[in-house]
Amino acid sequence: MEPFPAELFIDGAFRAASSGRRTTLINPATEEPFAEVAAADGTDVNVAVESAQRAWGSGWRDLPPGKRESVLHAVARKLRDQLEEIAQLETLHIGKPINDARDEAGLGARVFEYYAGAVTKFGGQTIPVGRGGFDFTLRQPMGVVACIVPWNFPFPIACWKAAPALAAGNCVVLKPASLSPLTALKLGELAHAAGLPAGALQVLPGAGSTIGDTLVTHPLVRKISFTGSTEIGRRIMELASRDIKRVSLELGGKSPNIVFADADWQRAAETSPMSVFANTGQDCCARSRVFVERSIYEPFVERFVAATKKLIVGDPARPETQLGPMVSASQREAVEEYLADARKRGSKFACGGGRLHPKGYYLEPTVLLDVGKEDRCWREEIFGPVVCITPFDDEPQMIRHVNASPYGLSGSLWTNDLRRAIRVAKAVESGVLSVNCHNSVHTEAPFGGYKQSGLGRDLGMAAMEGYTELKNVYVAE
Ligand code: NAD
Ligand code: MN
Repeated sequence: MEPFPAELFIDGAFRAASSGRRTTLINPATEEPFAEVAAADGTDVNVAVESAQRAWGSGWRDLPPGKRESVLHAVARKLRDQLEEIAQLETLHIGKPINDARDEAGLGARVFEYYAGAVTKFGGQTIPVGRGGFDFTLRQPMGVVACIVPWNFPFPIACWKAAPALAAGNCVVLKPASLSPLTALKLGELAHAAGLPAGALQVLPGAGSTIGDTLVTHPLVRKISFTGSTEIGRRIMELASRDIKRVSLELGGKSPNIVFADADWQRAAETSPMSVFANTGQDCCARSRVFVERSIYEPFVERFVAATKKLIVGDPARPETQLGPMVSASQREAVEEYLADARKRGSKFACGGGRLHPKGYYLEPTVLLDVGKEDRCWREEIFGPVVCITPFDDEPQMIRHVNASPYGLSGSLWTNDLRRAIRVAKAVESGVLSVNCHNSVHTEAPFGGYKQSGLGRDLGMAAMEGYTELKNVYVAE
């Protein structure tokens, strides 16, 4: 047997894809193929959805809440027991630095703990209505939920969709990205080993272009929870509109990092490189547009560049590594097209811009100055280790530039002026914002975007609500 999960996970067991097709996985740090993973097609989608529907009908939703709670806690314990193995798989298939992979495996387990606890604290309301009688609401599970996840944070995002969906009483068909099936398959295997009933969580590796439409339009799938590109999110929303299916979408971003002169701007400059370059910039929350008040612009850039040059880019298996390779050759080429455009337009490269190391899809973290507000690098999500820094003079005008983006996912704001912090936090059009730090993701708090960054929320109780229908019942006196 291979040292990693390599088949589809359906009805509580690994099984081959019906077509026999497999996808080759390439280690992005070495460019060497290392595994062949089963690739689902439409037939497998139908089998998985029907199995999930059976699991839903045969009692997962009807278990006493305390029982569902204890199963989800058992899942979290299994994940913690195998944390190192999960982290190693994550590093192997997407080149994520091992320390980040360990943190994210822990986050996945934490998310299961949080939603295990939520099962017994989540419910409807009683509402005073009319005269007499009794009005109450129920939060009811939907049935089969499709969770489609990307390759940049494969394990934690799989957990933060599957855990609340399961906690609310649904059954899940999880589709990992083709580049990153291993940790999702591990999640399926471990969750069932922990006592989740067969069929409650299916894992279907396969190409979105092959199985996406079948999964999204399957009549038994009631909701699609998607994280990925705005382009595919738009397509899913269009397909879902036919049957008015529920969707939640976490999409792209072009997040601002706003630094006022009154802030501890030295700390901002030293911590900001990792707010965009972490995960080699393949992060929907990447603070890729830095707005710096003019009076501190030059020393800020100097510190930012010095901190960037100190980042350790290399073998993701080594604990000291901060940035690994990009996930694939084509992802690196896509970023290099942006860099070519920046060169053509006369932007200044304060550092970076080239490849690194003879093997592996490495790219230097790159700091661009003098980028035009109409240039592609300024407007579009690059999804690689590239940042644009720009000075500003006037707060209202800076806010207009911040909000000119069609995206609105995340962002940071640095100031020691409380009133300014509140004013700017209210004015920035984004679903998530951090003041004097760069933390966007908290298990307990809602995460998601404004505008073309998405619809609905992951994490917190908001995510759990999103996996239920709200029913109102009135009982006459
Ligand atoms: P992607 O949209 O290409 O793929 C995401 C997932 O959708 C994958 O599982 C893929 O196989 C699947 N897919 C592809 N075509 C499909 C189709 N026609 N129907 C159904 N599913 C399909 O995105 P990606 O390239 O994997 O990830 C990068 C993008 O994800 C970036 O734009 C990034 O900003 C975004 N992202 C957003 C968040 C967030 O929370 N907002 C988090 C991570 C990534
Ligand atoms: Mn893609």
